[in-house]
Amino acid sequence: MARYTGPDCRLCRREGAKLFLKGDRCYTDKCAFERRSFPPGDAGRKRPRESEYRIQLREKQKTKRIYGLLEKQFRGYYDLANRQQGVTGDNLLRLLETRLDNVVYRLGFAKSRAEARQQVRHGHVHVNGRRVDIPSFRVKEGDLVAIAPKARDLLVIKSALISNEKTEVPQWLEVDIDKLQGSVLGLPSRDQIDMDIREQLIVELYSK
Ligand code: SF4
Repeated sequence: MARYTGPDCRLCRREGAKLFLKGDRCYTDKCAFERRSFPPGDAGRKRPRESEYRIQLREKQKTKRIYGLLEKQFRGYYDLANRQQGVTGDNLLRLLETRLDNVVYRLGFAKSRAEARQQVRHGHVHVNGRRVDIPSFRVKEGDLVAIAPKARDLLVIKSALISNEKTEVPQWLEVDIDKLQGSVLGLPSRDQIDMDIREQLIVELYSK
């Protein structure tokens, strides 16, 4: 499936929820979902037929879009989560949260996951002192994620730090703003992942 190149806000309206894909704008009255919370398109205002399948599908699409993944990548995470020990839904969210682009976003070095992905791709992020330019790189307990020295003065990073000043870093991470680095204290448990996602619906959808 091709990568979606349309407006991000359309995805929020499609999923009927704020997915926070555009950084600062999501917290202002310019947010398209605040102004038009019905789905896009001609049939947008009509009440959709609710079916079990539709509810599960929408939850999966919403989650996939929050993390900016294609179907194949997302399915890959599900398959891996299913093979791991423990609760598949929890495993799935843990895998998604420990992606390097998500960690950069969670540490407050980017305004959105898309921006964090670009920083990683451009080589602005180091893990344990080495450049890692793969957004899907999975961090593990004890890893040190840092902004590369040559990128420390980038406007985009300074601006993200100002925007995220009051945003709390999740319990499983620890940030040192002065050094522009953060450590992974441990892998996140479900209660440490503050996301409005009903992962069980995704598991039900894929288990059919
Ligand atoms: Fe979604 Fe609103 Fe952010 Fe647009 S501005 S991506 S509609 S939360």
